Amino acid sequence: TFSLGPRISTWDEDRKVWLQKNPQFPNYVNGKPRILLVTGSPPNPCDNAIGDHYLLKSIKNKIDYCRIHGIEIVYNMAHLDKEMAGYWAKLPLIRRLMLSHPEVEWIWWMDSDALFTDMVFEIPSFKYKDYNMWSLDLLDVWAPMGPKGPIREETGKILTANLKGRPAFEADDQSALIYLLISQKDKWMNKVFVENSFYLHGFWEGLVDRYEEMIEKYHPGLGDERWPFVTHFVGCKPHRGLVSPNIKRIRNETGTPLVNVDQFDIRHAVHQSG
Ligand code: UDP
Ligand code: MN
Repeated sequence: TFSLGPRISTWDEDRKVWLQKNPQFPNYVNGKPRILLVTGSPPNPCDNAIGDHYLLKSIKNKIDYCRIHGIEIVYNMAHLDKEMAGYWAKLPLIRRLMLSHPEVEWIWWMDSDALFTDMVFEIPSFKYKDYNMWSLDLLDVWAPMGPKGPIREETGKILTANLKGRPAFEADDQSALIYLLISQKDKWMNKVFVENSFYLHGFWEGLVDRYEEMIEKYHPGLGDERWPFVTHFVGCKPHRGLVSPNIKRIRNETGTPLVNVDQFDIRHAVHQSG
């Protein structure tokens, strides 16, 4: 079967030793776990030129969020493995980054077409301390479902037969992961935390029409249905509501900027009342 690389069975111990030997690369900084946000897009342009324009906005949005919160970011446009082209490209990439950055506690994949809509909210990583998944092992069983060609096609049929409402098409990484988790529940599920207390992955439908209402009633920092942390759009195929990204003045200039500096700094917005 296909594999992403040699099986690594002593990662946890090896990493612990590496961290002890390399105190200049701590996995916790100021009490916070070191996070690497990983995203990327296909090597070629989008079919639709406006799609590329949104990819640019989208990477800017991620860089802004990461700068504010001290998160490192990688943008990948290469296919590291020919067989893992397309949406499966994230698997070899994540594995490579994990192995070459043992100082990173969390690798956070984010689709190119997902945007931070709450620049203040932070992932409550302490909630997941008892869910220390064996990520390399998971990648080892997940990746063999993805090689382009007959395997991806045949696996797609299995996924469609087993996942309610899935249309018939080749295996995608996300359906494959869900299928894996439910078909091997005993092996994985006690280490899986499906987060639904905030919008890690809010879908644009049902959110975008409510943005104005949210702005009126709430404030950044909530991350949930009142102010979605992330809104996921539709790849290189944007919808009409986004075609005019004009900006407008929302307050007047002041001669005493420092009087209000805290109020206008979004990093302090958490402390404002709704
Ligand atoms: N992606 C990538 N390289 C590719 C194809 C996809 O890095 O060649 C990433 C990209 O970030 C994209 C995500 O994988 O947002 C999911 O891809 P998919 O085709 O499922 O859907 P999209 O998000 O483009 O609608
Ligand atoms: Mn997407």
